[in-house]
Amino acid sequence: MNWESNVRKVVPYVPGEQPSASARLIKLNTNENPYPPAPGVEEILKEYDISLLRKYPDATCSPLVNVLAEKYNVKPSQVFVGVGSDDVLAMAFLTFFNSEKSILFPDITYSFYDVWAELFKIPYKQIPLDEEFRIRPEDYKAENGGVVIANPNAPTGVFMGLDGIRQILDANRDVVCIVDEAYVDFGAESTLSLLDEYDNLLVIQTFSKSRSMAGLRIGFAIGSETMIKYLNDVKYSYNSYTMTSLTLALGVEAVKDDEYFRNTCEKIVKTREKLKEDLKELGFEFQDSKTNFIFAKHESVPAEHIFTELRKRNIYVRYWNKPRISDYLRITVGTDEECDILVRNLKEIVK
Ligand SMILES: *Cc1c(COP(=O)(O)O)cnc(C)c1O
Repeated sequence: MNWESNVRKVVPYVPGEQPSASARLIKLNTNENPYPPAPGVEEILKEYDISLLRKYPDATCSPLVNVLAEKYNVKPSQVFVGVGSDDVLAMAFLTFFNSEKSILFPDITYSFYDVWAELFKIPYKQIPLDEEFRIRPEDYKAENGGVVIANPNAPTGVFMGLDGIRQILDANRDVVCIVDEAYVDFGAESTLSLLDEYDNLLVIQTFSKSRSMAGLRIGFAIGSETMIKYLNDVKYSYNSYTMTSLTLALGVEAVKDDEYFRNTCEKIVKTREKLKEDLKELGFEFQDSKTNFIFAKHESVPAEHIFTELRKRNIYVRYWNKPRISDYLRITVGTDEECDILVRNLKEIVK
C-alpha cells in the first residue's frame, strides 16, 4: 500500500492541438470561429478599468446572466453561467446525475461525457448511433439515471429535429435530460423552445464557437428555476468565483451585438455549404452538417493518410483512430480563403 492506491485516477479528455500562435498554419482542428469577437468586445477590453481587478468579481455573474435572460426570453433565475460549457456540463453532471442507474448518451458524441462520468463515478451506458450516425429516440426509453444529447451532435454534425428530442424528453420525465447545443447557432433549431413544457430539460450553450470567444471561456445553461438553483448550490460549494470580472464585462458586450453575431454565423453557414459541394466533388461522403464543421470520409483514400498529408502542408484537421470513426476527418469551417486552400491541397492528396 502506498499513497497512489488512494489517488482518483482518471483518463483525461484529449483536446485538439493548439500550436503556438506564431505558427503559420491553417487551423481547422478545434471548431474555433475564424472571425474575431464582436467589435464592442475590443472596445471594452481597451477601456477596462484595471483597478477593478483588485476586487472579487460578482459571484452571481448577474450582468451576464441578465443579458442572456433577456436575449433568450427567460427569467434571470433560469440562467447559469460558467467557465466555458465544459465547466457548466461538469457542474450539471455533478448536480443532476446521482442515481444508481446509468446515464445514457450516444457511443459517438462529445468525448468529454464519459470522462466526467468516470471522474464523478456516475454509471453510464453508451448507445450506438445508427449507420447514418443518427440518434434513435426509442433507444432512450430504457430505465436510466439521466440523458445527455449533443444536438447537433459532435463530431458527426448531425442534427436531430425537435420531434426526436421531444420523444426523449417525454420518455424521461423523471430524470434530467441535458441538451448540449454547442453548435446550434449554425442553422439548427434550439430546444429552448420546449423549456416551458419540460421541467426536466437543461439546455447548455457556449460562446466558444458562434461568438468567437473560445479563449475567454464562457458557457451557460438555461432550465427551470429549480434546476438552476440546484446548479448554483453545487457551484457555491465548489468555487464561488468561477467567472472573472473582465470575462463578465466582455461576455455582456458579445451578447449585446446581435447583428454581428448573426452575420458571422451566416457567413460560416455559407462557407460550409460551399465546402460541402467542393468535398463532394473530390469524392468525400458525409452526413449533412448543421454545425461549423464537416465530418467526412473519402471514398478511397484513408483518413489517416489525408490527415498526415494535410499536416505536412500546415493544414490541421481532427482525426480519431477510434472504432467506427477511424475513416473520418472532422474539418472545421474556416474563412472562404482557408477553405479554398484546403480544397486545393485535398485535390492533390486524393487524386
Ligand atoms: C466545444 C464543445 C463544448 C465545450 O465548449 P466550451 O469551449 O467549453 O464552451 C461542449 N460540447 C460540445 C459538443 C462541444 O463541441
